[in-house]
Formats: sequence, structure tokens, C-alpha cells
Amino acid sequence: MKKVFFVICDGLPDRPIKELDNKTPLEYAKTPNLDKIAVDGLSGMMHTVDVGVRPGSDTAHLSIFGYDPYTYYSGRGPFECAGIGMEVNKGDVAFRANAGTLDDSGLVSDRRAGRPESTKFIVDFLGEIEIDGIKFILQESLGHRIGMIMRGPGLSPKVSDQDPRKVGMPVHEVHPLDDTVEAKFTAEVLNKFSKLVAEKLKDCPANQERIAAGKLPANIVLFRGAGAIPEHMPSLKDKYNLDAVFVAGGPLYKGIAKVLGMTVYDFDEASGVTGLWNSNLQNKINKALELSKDYDITFVHIKAADTLAEDGNYLGKIEFIEKIDAALKPLAEDNDFLFVITSDHTTSSALKQHTGDPVPITFKGEGVRTDDINAFGERECAKGRLSHIKGENVMPIVIDLMGLAELFGA
Ligand code: ZN
Repeated sequence: MKKVFFVICDGLPDRPIKELDNKTPLEYAKTPNLDKIAVDGLSGMMHTVDVGVRPGSDTAHLSIFGYDPYTYYSGRGPFECAGIGMEVNKGDVAFRANAGTLDDSGLVSDRRAGRPESTKFIVDFLGEIEIDGIKFILQESLGHRIGMIMRGPGLSPKVSDQDPRKVGMPVHEVHPLDDTVEAKFTAEVLNKFSKLVAEKLKDCPANQERIAAGKLPANIVLFRGAGAIPEHMPSLKDKYNLDAVFVAGGPLYKGIAKVLGMTVYDFDEASGVTGLWNSNLQNKINKALELSKDYDITFVHIKAADTLAEDGNYLGKIEFIEKIDAALKPLAEDNDFLFVITSDHTTSSALKQHTGDPVPITFKGEGVRTDDINAFGERECAKGRLSHIKGENVMPIVIDLMGLAELFGA
């Protein structure tokens, strides 16, 4: 059985940019290794979720792994919480949360509470909260971020956000998003929680200290993105009988992989692997190559091309793409792996957001058909013989190229 090395470059494709002679950053960047991979492989375009759908990173990744997001996705919360090391169980409802600041009139004046270095002080102060038999589990994440899980019987993720997402507004009352008893109950408990937390945090001594030091108090927990892991969600191992390892810097991506039961590698600070533009991609790829010896399939997620495009920084995106290219040199020269490279969605530097344009994808390895394209890019891959596929087609193609597909029929 062939081993698989699978690279997902977040937000790698773009739209043509006037200042780049109407090329995209991927077409403009000098990428000899990516181009060699495309020359040696079979390429096409992929609609990760569906034609014309503008995917989030989470729904796009689920699709690529073969999980229909319309069945398995309810919100980003569980992946964010799992990504910071929280145990998310089936039946839990999980959220992305922030420490925020309410002013004297009860309006949100800062959604990030003046960006504290950590939210441990409010998580510790709030301690264990239980309302109507539902436990609230909070854990500090980076900066102002908090992971938040509700645990107990009769919960539903079908509830609206309490975080107003804007300053100068009160926190939203949480509403049920369907007619079930569970959604109604969950919304009621969340509204009680929201009031209780605001009341408790008024007396938090660390907040008094922050105010005395001229800083904003963290006197509210803002939450959004309610989600739950569906009862019937299989692990990647259940689905494909493959042992997978996932190598990434960003918590959301690690969270998705954890929820799907993959082994997730955690880099230490000395590795320089950060999930940011300054990430040490060479170390990341080298570690992934080392880990690949013990797994059937090795996924590598590379984040920063997306972040740079969301900042409108197409020059930075070009530079980062060239860095990806340099790090992939060993894979361009490799003949043993079944190698796959693609992206989760297009991120337009001009619009500073994800778009629904399809993304390039290339498969390369012994036995894989080839085509006549000369480069890895939006225009070239659209000419490839793989043509247009959807995210849900990727894993079946991988399984077939690994020689593991069962015969359908006789
Ligand atoms: Zn993404």
C-alpha cells in the first residue's frame, strides 16, 4: 500500500490582480517545485463544498476529508474547543468565546477586553458554573479567546449568538433556531449564564486591578458559533481504515483533525512552527516526513496565505507562496508517496475574504496519470485532465490510487 502525503494550503488561490499583470499571486510567484509537481502529476479544479459555494475553512476541510458539512457541521465551536485541547463529547454544545468589556450602560465597548495576554484570570475566577443541570466548562485560549462547552442532558446547538459582533450594542438575547424543546431550553440556560457571568465578573479582583492600571476590565464572556458533534459521526479510521496524522499550527485545523480522531502533532515553541506568516515551514515539512513513517496518510495544513490575503497583502502572499514552494522541494523530488496538494478555498486579496472560485488540485505518484500542464496555478490546473471535482471526491480518488478501493459490481 502506498503512503499518502497530503498538503492543504489554506486560501492559496486568488483572483487575478491588476498590479500583477492580471495574474494571481500563485501564478505570479516563482514556484519551481510546485510546477514540477504539476508537470509530473494529474491536475484539475476542485469545488470543495459545491459549485458556487463560498466555503469556510471548517466546512471546506470536512468536505475534503469526505464528511458532508450539510450533515456533520452545525457550528465552529466544537473544532475551536478541541483545537485548544478541550475534550468535546457527543451531546455537548461548544462555542467560540471571547472575554469582552461592557461599559457602565451595559453596552459592549470592546469585544476583546483590551486584548489581555490570557483569559485565565476570569476562567479561574468563574470556576465551575452549573445552571439547571447544565455544566459550563471554560478554558483559556490565546489572548482574549476562551473555549466554552455546555455539558448535560437535553441540549441543542440550534441557538443564536449572544456576541453582538459589534461594539456599542448590548449582548444579544439568545434565541432558539428551531422549534425543539432542546433548542428552547439551551437558549434559556445560555441567557441565564450570560447574566450570571456579567454579575459575577463585576466583583473579580483582577478586573479592579485592570481598571486601576488603566486597562479595560474583562467583565463579560461573549459567545458564538454554537456547534455539536453529531452522534453518528464516524472517525476517519472508521471511514477509511487508515491511520492518519495531522500536522498544523492553527487551533481550528487541529480541532477538526482531533474531532475526526486523527493523531494531531503539537509543535513546541522551539520548532518555530506558528501557523503564521513567519512559520518555519521547513521544520514543519521535515517533521511531517518523519511522522509519515508511522502513518498511512499524513496531512499538512499551511495557513498564512489565507491570512495575508484577508489582510489584502498580495505581495506578502506571493512571498509566502515562494516559501511554501521551497519547503516542498523534498516532495517534488519524491517518487514513493502518493502526493496530493490543494487548498480549502480561494481567498481574494482584493475582497479580503473567501470566494466560491474552485481551487487547484494535483495528485502525483507512481501509476497516477499525467497531463500536459506546465505549472501549479489557477489557469493551468483548469486545463488539467482531472477536470472539475468536488471536495467529497478527493478521498475516494486517494483510496483508489492507493489500490484500496473495493470493486463496485462484479
Ligand atoms: Zn481556510
